Amino acid sequence: MRELVRNFAKDLLQHALIPRSFLWRMPREAGVALTFDDGPDPEFTPALLDLLREARVRATFFLIGRKVEAHPTLAARIAAEGHSLGGHSFDHQVITSMSRAALGADLQRCRAAIRAATGVDTRLFRPPKGEVNLASIHGVHSHGYRLVHWSLTYSDYRRDGLEALLGRMASRPPRPGEVILLHDDNPYTLQALSDVLPRWKDAGLEFAAL
Ligand SMILES: [Zn+2]
Repeated sequence: MRELVRNFAKDLLQHALIPRSFLWRMPREAGVALTFDDGPDPEFTPALLDLLREARVRATFFLIGRKVEAHPTLAARIAAEGHSLGGHSFDHQVITSMSRAALGADLQRCRAAIRAATGVDTRLFRPPKGEVNLASIHGVHSHGYRLVHWSLTYSDYRRDGLEALLGRMASRPPRPGEVILLHDDNPYTLQALSDVLPRWKDAGLEFAAL
């Protein structure tokens, strides 16, 4: 029930309240959007990029500004390989506790870090931990950014092992139009995707960057 209410609220935001500033799901014909938060990660992001390249899949990476500053070459590689970029805050601080001004400064600082490393000027933003309230949603909108949530999570942030993650993926495969939350600083996510991505493709799913 809570899930239903939450999805209804997201639908209302995307289609009625702030249609150009909130996205949680795409049209079915747009394909599936894989989104990766919390990178760039020097340990796992390179292998994920190899995997995506091999599968000919373009995805979207929501980068943490501080990590982009620490690993600019890796951030540049993500962009160079055709993936979309978005901000995920400068330091992974939850935005619901920020003032409007602090939120604006954080969005700008993260965007500047991404632009300096990659040349990409992004207005896409994924809130840390997905935590939002009406004030912060409006804040992101008023600063001119598009807030990207998700329609499907496999809860890879639980880090409860490969078998558990594969089990969740098997029990609920993606459907066209879904925006999937994943994390590229997670070894299980990388291992699980190398297993399921070819099968999802064989099943006819198509993937697109946002
Ligand atoms: Zn995150």
